[in-house]
Amino acid sequence: MLAIEQGREPGNAPVVTPEKPTSAKPQPKPKRPKPVPIDPGFHYHPLRKTVHVICVVIFFLLPLTNLMRLDIPRQRFYFFGYELWISEFSIIFFSMMFLMFVVAAMAILWGRVYCGYLCPQMIFSEASLSLESWLQRTVNRYSRWDAKKGNLLSKTLFYLISGIASVILAFVFIAYFVEPRDLLHRLLSFDIKTAGGIAGAATTLLTLLDFLFLRQRFCTVICPYGYLQGMLTDNDTLLVHYRDENHECIECKKCIRVCHMGIDIRNSPYQVECIGCGECIDACNDILARLGKPGLIHYVWGERGGRFGTGDKTWYQKVGIRDAKRVVILLVLLFYAAGLFTALSMRHALLVQIAPIRATLYRQDNDGTVYNTFHLKVANRGRQQQTVVLGMEGLAGTRFVGFENALVVAGGQSLERDFEIAAPPSAGLAPGVNHFQLVSRAGNERESFDETFITPFKDSR
Ligand code: SF4
Ligand code: SF4
Repeated sequence: MLAIEQGREPGNAPVVTPEKPTSAKPQPKPKRPKPVPIDPGFHYHPLRKTVHVICVVIFFLLPLTNLMRLDIPRQRFYFFGYELWISEFSIIFFSMMFLMFVVAAMAILWGRVYCGYLCPQMIFSEASLSLESWLQRTVNRYSRWDAKKGNLLSKTLFYLISGIASVILAFVFIAYFVEPRDLLHRLLSFDIKTAGGIAGAATTLLTLLDFLFLRQRFCTVICPYGYLQGMLTDNDTLLVHYRDENHECIECKKCIRVCHMGIDIRNSPYQVECIGCGECIDACNDILARLGKPGLIHYVWGERGGRFGTGDKTWYQKVGIRDAKRVVILLVLLFYAAGLFTALSMRHALLVQIAPIRATLYRQDNDGTVYNTFHLKVANRGRQQQTVVLGMEGLAGTRFVGFENALVVAGGQSLERDFEIAAPPSAGLAPGVNHFQLVSRAGNERESFDETFITPFKDSR
């Protein structure tokens, strides 16, 4: 405020003097409203860890209970209660293709959910990292040594535990290919001479190196599936996306610190390292919830798609079935599964094969009886003992020679026999080729085989 001085001569300009400051209190600055924290919402970390535990249990149970195992020495494929022999290669092949197709379909629908939630390599890499940092923290807290000695102790403990874990995991992995009891015997006798022993030792070493040095680098450097998924995804595939239209990011960088793959999701949702684990989503939700704001990172259906869990009206949209392409994929998967199940349920546990041995067409003894030789192969691919009985139709007056007629085959056993059919002159067979059928019976199963019996041709009699 300004004041004009009084009592001056006319014409003179008024002298302006500043008003003395008053002794009034300064006005308090308006307070910034304190942010009201909000609930950060659902966390993916506990879900992942629960899934990881379930996966580890399944990883151990599958080979040890013969639910899924490709037994190389015995040439068997165990697939959810079915024991497939290598002679049934087509079913084995289709079973394996089905599993691969399931993984590929998962990549199209849910992106890298397999890598983040189900992959054993990722699970054990994360476990190894957590173990290392937990040991470091625990030793530093409880030991009275200086930091250098404490680090040495925690490293030694880590190497020791990793070594034991590598042996166990390598054992379970090799048990997918070698019978577990046989493998245990080889392990206890420190067998590094047989193929199974060498494979076990090599896998243990590789697992240990993986735990100690490679870990998540395996996903970006070696694993082909990570790259394959890039080709399988489309505009509706689930991915982790950072969206910040209102510039709310406070640059706390917690989303980077929690990322096991060491990337900044804010740069792009299509980084090949991103395994879609959702740890950065939890981190950002937690941080911004303290400031009363929702997180900036989400699972979304494609870069421009809606957020996972919001906006979808139907159950099939919620689980990712969002276009005709996905419906077709699921239908193909369903038909494939139905075909595979039908093939498995229609397979005969008992395999009987009969073939004539034609190195010699026939043999004839002095009384004129003619003999033809056959080869019988019986494989019992079930678990119950089977009794195979052979019979003949259309070859009256003949008999088996060198065959007990009832062959007992234990579960999992295969037998081979050569036998003859003898036709005395009284059988009255036509000269040359006589068609007949060999019939095998085992329980309720009956199978017939078209065969020929050769007698001396007219000119040779
Ligand atoms: S956690 Fe969220 S707020 Fe913090 S840097 Fe990452 S995106 Fe920004
Ligand atoms: S960026 Fe996020 S979702 Fe991707 S790997 Fe890192 S933490 Fe997981």
